[in-house]
Amino acid sequence: MQIKPGKLLIFSAPSGSGKTTIVKYLLDNLTGLTFSVSATSRSMRVGEENGKDYFFISREEFRTKISKNEFLEWEEVYNGSYYGTLKCEVDLLLQQGKHILFDVDVLGGLNIKQHYQDQALAVFVMAPSIDTLRKRLCIRSTDSDENIQKRIEKAEFEMTFAHKFDFILHNDDLVTAQNEIKYIVQHFINT
Ligand code: ADP
Ligand code: 5GP
Repeated sequence: MQIKPGKLLIFSAPSGSGKTTIVKYLLDNLTGLTFSVSATSRSMRVGEENGKDYFFISREEFRTKISKNEFLEWEEVYNGSYYGTLKCEVDLLLQQGKHILFDVDVLGGLNIKQHYQDQALAVFVMAPSIDTLRKRLCIRSTDSDENIQKRIEKAEFEMTFAHKFDFILHNDDLVTAQNEIKYIVQHFINT
């Protein structure tokens, strides 16, 4: 019997909007979903695992993979740090009928959507304000003040792409946002 190919669930947002929190919630609360592990050249944070959060590779390895056309999409998301979705990871999971969750930056998300069209649902996670983003990044305490400033500066540019996504998820009250997205994802993967 032929397996029905899986669907792609893309989550993009300015850093600090809550997309990692939302993606983790969906993985924990819906069956049949798999996280797309990206490659990155940024250094590993405390608590992260190679092969689970990212494939952590050097800038040189990353550039070699670019030249071998191994990425479905890739971006230099923040100065000097590359992030990319490996074609081999995605193809294998889709053939197995798995639904794949992506946590990628805004341009990467739109590129994946363009490639997979109706097989993909592109969601933009929107925080209530830039000020809220800054507060969330400060509370998360994973980035230096300088990095937080870089992320905030980029956020304003990224917000201008929100209307290009299939759906804007307003992440103000977390429980409300989680319930809303669970319903939407369930509906999308069942149709
Ligand atoms: P992103 O992946 O978009 O960078 P995270 O999911 O890491 O964002 O969230 C950034 C911080 O904000 C985390 O500390 C997270 O616990 C917190 N957070 C996420 N959603 C909410 C929310 N709705 N209200 C308050 N804090 C939130
Ligand atoms: P972080 O350093 O906080 O893990 O991620 C920084 C940004 O890179 C986030 O917006 C995240 O969604 C994005 N990102 C992670 N993986 C990929 C990827 O494979 N491709 C692209 N384009 N962006 C990614």
